[in-house]
Amino acid sequence: MKISQKVSVIEPSLTRDLFNRALKLGDVINLTLGDPDLSPPQSVRDAACDAIQKGKTRYSANAGLLELRQVIAESFTKEYGLPCNPGEEVVVTIGGMEALYLALSSLIDPGDEVIIFAPYYVNYVQMVRMNGGVPIIIETNESKGFSVDPANLESYLSDKTVAIIINTPCNPTGAMLPRSVLAEIARVAKERDLLVISDEVYKSLVYDGEDHCSVLSFPGMRDRTILVDSLSKKFAMTGWRLGWAVGPKELVAAMTKMQENVAACAPLPSQYGAIEALKDDTDVAYIRNTFVRRRDLIFQKINECPRLSALKPAATFYIFVNIRETGLKSLDFALKLLESQHVAVVPGVTYGKAYDDYVRIAFTHDVSVLSEACERIRRFVGAL
Ligand code: PMP
Repeated sequence: MKISQKVSVIEPSLTRDLFNRALKLGDVINLTLGDPDLSPPQSVRDAACDAIQKGKTRYSANAGLLELRQVIAESFTKEYGLPCNPGEEVVVTIGGMEALYLALSSLIDPGDEVIIFAPYYVNYVQMVRMNGGVPIIIETNESKGFSVDPANLESYLSDKTVAIIINTPCNPTGAMLPRSVLAEIARVAKERDLLVISDEVYKSLVYDGEDHCSVLSFPGMRDRTILVDSLSKKFAMTGWRLGWAVGPKELVAAMTKMQENVAACAPLPSQYGAIEALKDDTDVAYIRNTFVRRRDLIFQKINECPRLSALKPAATFYIFVNIRETGLKSLDFALKLLESQHVAVVPGVTYGKAYDDYVRIAFTHDVSVLSEACERIRRFVGAL
């Protein structure tokens, strides 16, 4: 069977591999996928069911229902204090992932370079490659809180660089980029005429009263930033596959043109649910409070465990655990832990080759399950 070159450059997902192995074993505490165990608000579920019952289940405009784009534009303006034209600057997508994909495929020509900070959400690298681009990886490290060193940035740029992807708050570290770093990225993007793809899907899960800062808050960035957002994490709606992008109208028009040929539009019941979700986001506080309790528990238990340590995640539902002192590399650690204690985590090497001394834990389960998982991890490490 002929399979395209594009597919051969994609590395199989280790996250999915661990997830699938866990499914086969049964009785596993599965801490792999970033898939919250909570339910979206009842009113949101009702809105989607109502759409199905009333037969509002056909195709929408490629860019999504105008009513939904209006709600997205309003919440964008409220949050960022910036104007947004729902008719031209918003495209509704199949999750944040499709927004990323459409943005990259609308932007990249073969050989174009895209800056990605590591540890990274692995799909960035794969999607850049799938579109014929070249990912340029800039590593960050734990001793600096996984923050980007802006002094370094310019040395990675070339005349082929077309964009910088930023992900704050970050999957897998749970860290947020400080304002000063974002300011520097904005300065460089303006000076070198680059697009910034700002993936902010975790911005509602920020803890300890900290503020989420977006690159959009810097002068001149509205015209060169494509914001990627989604309901998946904010409302625990991963399977609804509903995301969007807000950005300059030329790029949004290109993404909308691509959308016609990729999927036509995002699923209609999910679009109706999204209108309801975005009108009233009081439930977000409940979701955030649930995760902060889990974050506190897992942060404490992991750091109490001999030979393991982790920085406190300022946001998201991930903790990036340093396993260096166990002497195991990340895949070995994850496979042995799964086999012996039936706990599934993601090997750090998934997020870049420099992170083989880490594993990522998604704390998307109840505190009692997380306590049991930590107990099993402690037993595993103790027996090494
Ligand atoms: N960006 C990041 C950093 C993510 O972790 C994810 C989901 N794991 C996404 C985007 C996309 O999520 P979705 O397509 O479900 O909106």
